[in-house]
Amino acid sequence: MKLNDKLSVSPVQKITFRNRNYFLKRDDLINPYFNGNKARKFDYFLNTDLSNYTKVISYGGNQSNAMFSLAAFAKIKKLQFDYYLKPLPLFLKKNPAGNFKYALELGMNYIELPDYETFFQKMSSEDKTFDILGEKSLLIRQGGAEKEAEYGVKKMAEEINVWAEKGNIKKLSVFIQSGTGTTALYLQKHLNFKVYTTPNIGDKNYLLKQFALLEKDKTNYPVILETKKKYTFGKLYREFYDIWKEISKENNIEFELLYDPKTLIALAEYNKNIKGEIMYIHSGGVVGNESMLMRYKYKKMI
Ligand SMILES: *Cc1c(COP(=O)(O)O)cnc(C)c1O
Repeated sequence: MKLNDKLSVSPVQKITFRNRNYFLKRDDLINPYFNGNKARKFDYFLNTDLSNYTKVISYGGNQSNAMFSLAAFAKIKKLQFDYYLKPLPLFLKKNPAGNFKYALELGMNYIELPDYETFFQKMSSEDKTFDILGEKSLLIRQGGAEKEAEYGVKKMAEEINVWAEKGNIKKLSVFIQSGTGTTALYLQKHLNFKVYTTPNIGDKNYLLKQFALLEKDKTNYPVILETKKKYTFGKLYREFYDIWKEISKENNIEFELLYDPKTLIALAEYNKNIKGEIMYIHSGGVVGNESMLMRYKYKKMI
């Protein structure tokens, strides 16, 4: 994989899943490092002159997809990358894998800080640049939940609008996973069709709060679909692995193991109620599958 800052228009292809046809938007193919929605979310910063900065700072989980993409981003922009996370499990420290391993290879500098949440929550959402001893740093909040994400996600919406017009598709419903909900929200804001999303972190109320932080106009909010069963984010479930395996095998495309499974379960539960065409967004992140599969194996669940 060669490090480059080019984001290409992502192709759309036909797939099948449980006896229904879908369109799959391959946002996983935009760029090998910033795949999927992290590419969309960081597009703005990629196109911004940051030459007077020395550092990018961010924080979050030790296997975050955003962490990996930011490590590549910092390298392209020739900036140092400081990532704050909770003290690492000894096993991961000794055997780096997945997003963590590749972020380290890209030069990430990590800082273990038990209470990084309080530390960063104190900063207002407008605060993005710090000056520490004359060094300018750019802060990117956990998961890239920034207003600047709108710039790149709008491009995705426009790609879909154009694609639908060319294909004369009048009725389309678009399914996308949500973590912080940033991508789903801005997609709905600029898309001519209805967006359906499934909360992975937290529940419907968490997601509505996240939407409200970014957008006042409720008519721009996507439809939130919960699964019948409650799931805890990051936990392993046999049915998650099974649905991931099923759709990946049926189409010979690697799906993602952290956000896709719950969204696919919601899709399987609701698609009967939806008329017209359905598009599913592949939001990338497959680099993280390596460590997810290790965890499934370690727990002897597969
Ligand atoms: C980060 C990520 C999400 C969540 O995106 P949000 O904009 O935070 O909702 C979903 N899917 C994948 C694969 C991701 O990497």
